[in-house]
Amino acid sequence: GADISARNVDKLSASFPLCMQNLHRSLRRDAHLKHYGRLQYTLFLKGIGLNLEECLIFWRTSFSKLTDDQFNKDYRYNVRHAYGDVGGDSNRRGGGYSPFSCQKILTEHPPGPGEAHGCPYRHFNQENLTALLQAVGISDRSVLEGVKQDKEAQKFHLACNRVFEHVHKSEIKRAKDENIMTAAQLDTIVHPNEYFKRSYLLKN
Ligand code: SF4
Repeated sequence: GADISARNVDKLSASFPLCMQNLHRSLRRDAHLKHYGRLQYTLFLKGIGLNLEECLIFWRTSFSKLTDDQFNKDYRYNVRHAYGDVGGDSNRRGGGYSPFSCQKILTEHPPGPGEAHGCPYRHFNQENLTALLQAVGISDRSVLEGVKQDKEAQKFHLACNRVFEHVHKSEIKRAKDENIMTAAQLDTIVHPNEYFKRSYLLKN
């Protein structure tokens, strides 16, 4: 299986959808993320199988400008809460909050200035979206043009799936040829954790 650990998140992030790659890049650039970005990213990491202990290590080491005291006082509780380790009874019984779906990310809490959460296909302007895609290695002009049209038509899922299919072109072909994945498994992605799972499945 995968090594889902704090020190491996940089490597794993190559299989993350653009929303989570953007959070990861912002975190590495600023050694910080604002509240809603932390929540969106923490729940995603929980969803890929990072356990609470590793998640706390991940945030502690990522917030490299903070002292242990600052981290413990201001951030530790929220991570534990997201995992259902602390908080009210129903939160604890349910194992904390569920990772956010695309629908939720696309429609709730749009990011304000200085915030990195949300869906880049929706919340970035065209120019910044193209720059982000290029920064994560997508330079194919027809893909970038397709994404632009999807965004203009407000078909943000289509844009995300278009990029997924481009990045995994050869793996998808092989999976189809060898019947490794069913049509349903290759259906449109509507959850960031599904994006990761499918990417990981195809590459390994
Ligand atoms: Fe993330 Fe969903 Fe947007 Fe893709 S469509 S970037 S998975 S929120």
